[in-house]
Amino acid sequence: MKSKAEVVIIGGGSTGTSIAYHLAKLGVEDVVLLEKNYLGSGSTFRCASGIRAQFTDEANIKLQKYNIERWKNLSEELEYDIHFKQTGYLFLATTEEEVEAFKQNIKLQNKFGVPTRLIDMDEAKEIVPPLNTEPFLAGAWNPADGKACPFRVVYAFARKAREMGVEIYEHTPVTGLIVENGEIKGVKTEKGVIKTGIVVNAANAWAPIINEMAGLERDFIPIRPYKHQIVKTEPIAPGQIEPLTCPPAWNDSYVIQDGEDGGVMCGTGLEKEPLSLDDVQPTYDFLREVLKWATKIIPALKYVHVVRQWAGFYAKTPDSNPAIGRIQYVDELYIAAGFSGHGFMMAPGVGEAIAELIVKGKSKVPLDWEWYDPHRFERGELRSTAFQIG
Ligand SMILES: Cc1cc2nc3c(=O)[nH]c(=O)nc-3n(C[C@H](O)[C@H](O)[C@H](O)COP(=O)(O)OP(=O)(O)OC[C@H]3O[C@@H](n4cnc5c(N)ncnc54)[C@H](O)[C@@H]3O)c2cc1C
Repeated sequence: MKSKAEVVIIGGGSTGTSIAYHLAKLGVEDVVLLEKNYLGSGSTFRCASGIRAQFTDEANIKLQKYNIERWKNLSEELEYDIHFKQTGYLFLATTEEEVEAFKQNIKLQNKFGVPTRLIDMDEAKEIVPPLNTEPFLAGAWNPADGKACPFRVVYAFARKAREMGVEIYEHTPVTGLIVENGEIKGVKTEKGVIKTGIVVNAANAWAPIINEMAGLERDFIPIRPYKHQIVKTEPIAPGQIEPLTCPPAWNDSYVIQDGEDGGVMCGTGLEKEPLSLDDVQPTYDFLREVLKWATKIIPALKYVHVVRQWAGFYAKTPDSNPAIGRIQYVDELYIAAGFSGHGFMMAPGVGEAIAELIVKGKSKVPLDWEWYDPHRFERGELRSTAFQIG
């Protein structure tokens, strides 16, 4: 293992590997990424693959509009097919009040160039043929939203980063940070020390532990791990439930056909604090709850076998917006963590923005640093709550 590096990134999910790739792309020659387990093993490989610009505030809409442009070209840029598909997101309203709220959201999204529109249930049925349209009044439909394969995305970022000289060490837990007089001096791992002046905390659910290693209060950025689960069915015919389809009023439940094998991934907002950060045990109460909602959205799912269930973490902040930027108490300590339910979709732009911040001190990515300011919680400032689900 190297004994020194210009930048050390902690965490090898979609965020960390994207930062590594973008630093190398900017010409930083000496980058190390440390992952305690294997790449993607945190939340990224457990996610529902969804990518959307349908948010309800300016900052997230602008960032995600930009990110979707990045996703469109990412396979070409990384010279590896990440299976990005613009299969849309369909949100479904169950009451007149929700239809009104959808209209307001659509207006805001349209203002920033996101082509969401309100659709009736005939059109919704064309988009999702087995949909039970009866309970719903209208849909918010953005055909530009989509999905990509998390496994391919992490592999593609890491592969390209390695090609450009980044050293990636898996099964290498970070055990401490060396900070002297408010400056980063090095990173301790189970395999030795790496001297460095710049560290990026991309450990998401584990980010508070890394902050504590830097001598900060563990909870000065309050990121809490909530267990979030997915139940997946056997493959169904292609083209049945391609968009992520979600009635938010039904406990944030959603269904989406996996872009890889055509099975249906079903989620719902039953969240539990895990027993520990190793607790990714799926639960029976989730299975019961999620299938209750999924079969109300798509009744035909009653006749399809469940083949898998797994759990991961929503690394949640109090306003469900991530903490992205520089940590002021320690020179050259950066963070991109606390992505709540939507960090995968943000990875290209966040990686680019953090890399540019480190190298150039500013970024051309339309990322509102103030909105995502890691210090906002200390000041008692909360943003409007970002809609959580993938
Ligand atoms: C069930 C589920 C469904 C989801 N669906 C979606 C979706 O559809 N769309 C979407 O955008 N998001 C979704 N998410 C959220 C998404 O998975 C995360 O926001 C995203 O993957 C965060 O990526 P990351 O790289 O920041 O974190 P992670 O993938 O968690 O990576 C952090 C890494 O840090 C490593 N690490 C921790 N401590 C140390 C240490 N001491 N030393 C070295 N390494 C360390 C961990 O092992 C881990 O691999 C979902 C999440 C879940 C659980």
